Amino acid sequence: MTVQVSKSAAATGKVTLDAPIFDPSAFRLSDEQAAIIARARELGQTVFAGRAAAYDRDAKFPIENYRDLHRAGLLGISIPKTHGGLGADYQTYALAAAEIGRYCGATALTWNMHVCSTLWSGPLTDDLDMDTATRAEHERRRATHYKRIVEDGAIYSQPFSEGGAAAAGGVAFGTEAKPTKGGWIINGKKIFASLSGHADYYGVLCTEIAEGEKASRRNTLYLAIPAKADGVSVVGDWDPLGMRGTVSRTLLFKDVFVGEDAALMPRGVYFQAAMRWPHMFLTLSPTYMGLAQAAYDFTVRYLRGEVPGTPPVKRRMYPTKQIAVAQMQIKLEQIKAIWFQAVTEARANPSKEQVLRAYAAQHSVMEGANEIATLAIRTCGGQAMLKSLPLERIYRDSRCGSLMLPWTAELCLDRIGRDALYETGETDD
Ligand SMILES: Cc1cc2nc3c(=O)[nH]c(=O)nc-3n(C[C@H](O)[C@H](O)[C@H](O)COP(=O)(O)OP(=O)(O)OC[C@H]3O[C@@H](n4cnc5c(N)ncnc54)[C@H](O)[C@@H]3O)c2cc1C
Repeated sequence: MTVQVSKSAAATGKVTLDAPIFDPSAFRLSDEQAAIIARARELGQTVFAGRAAAYDRDAKFPIENYRDLHRAGLLGISIPKTHGGLGADYQTYALAAAEIGRYCGATALTWNMHVCSTLWSGPLTDDLDMDTATRAEHERRRATHYKRIVEDGAIYSQPFSEGGAAAAGGVAFGTEAKPTKGGWIINGKKIFASLSGHADYYGVLCTEIAEGEKASRRNTLYLAIPAKADGVSVVGDWDPLGMRGTVSRTLLFKDVFVGEDAALMPRGVYFQAAMRWPHMFLTLSPTYMGLAQAAYDFTVRYLRGEVPGTPPVKRRMYPTKQIAVAQMQIKLEQIKAIWFQAVTEARANPSKEQVLRAYAAQHSVMEGANEIATLAIRTCGGQAMLKSLPLERIYRDSRCGSLMLPWTAELCLDRIGRDALYETGETDD
């Protein structure tokens, strides 16, 4: 596989940079936010876009992009500045991730797994309850993870899914952490583990369970298991429809020992986060916000005869094309509006209205990105869906959004319908 060199084409003056998805002035972003988001956009457009086809074709993990993310400081985007990161809050991260998703879906989705390791153990955990000693211990532990990322470029992943009801939040995780002297012994299996074989640490959700105890969701632990630890293996193949560069194979843990410092959250805090900070699960959506914008951008350029590598044939004069673009633009603006609002109000203890809006935003983005990509293919036509152009990859990648647990499109509908009709504790008995 050939990859572009890590040189910013913008820096050499050869590329006209795309406008941001969310104009900083119109969306009232600070200069600092705008600068971080622009850094992600420039890297995405000038470097990642050119590599995306090869990663997709070969279902190969975008490791070169990760080296560039590290060099650009973006592996530590949500790490506090005091620890050498960029200190981006939830909203800034989400907007930056949408810009990466616009140019390479697989990079954005996997980067999300990595960044959440720091976002969840960082600003999100800071909002939750714990006693002073536990907080101090957590502060010490997370500094170790931050240092690995900022200084060494360590990559973290988030393998949660097991193929049962656990990833949807229904039951305790089947992967077990048995307490032992100085740490835990881990046994279990994770499916669809993006970054498998490429992450340095797998941020595994598992259930702490002592001899004779029953598994409980309250005892969920979030542990960073070193990829090289004895007993960790990656099995199975990976040849999916879309998001092929995520390399989401199966992970097995057989009597893997990890020490207490592997904890990315203190005991009991993941359960508290899942209850009190529900927007933590909305972080899979920025990638697809970017894909929606990419499908729209491609269509406008194609109909104007401006897609590089294609003849300068204009198709914009046909009323049917104009109506289709209008429909895409309306859909895109609707998605942007609800999604921006939802990522802006992410916080601890959101109101019921805010939680319902977060589900609605997730559903709108995940389904909407694919609707826009579908319309883009129909509107641009056969020549536009050849593999030499990015649209067919955007289409395939966008199809995957609705499948992401715990907030799949189906589960969002389930929860919106139920929570809109029932107050907490209400039944029909
Ligand atoms: C490209 C890609 C990358 C991924 N990366 C990761 C990763 O890094 N880490 C990770 O943990 N997972 C990851 N996943 C996994 C993802 O979140 C799902 O777990 C995965 O798609 C497997 O889902 P399934 O179809 O087997 O789910 P099933 O459990 O078979 O569910 C099928 C569908 O049924 C519905 N459903 C499930 N449970 C319930 C319920 N309790 N009530 C009502 N409806 C329900 C949902 O809509 C779901 O889509 C990834 C998936 C994809 C496609």
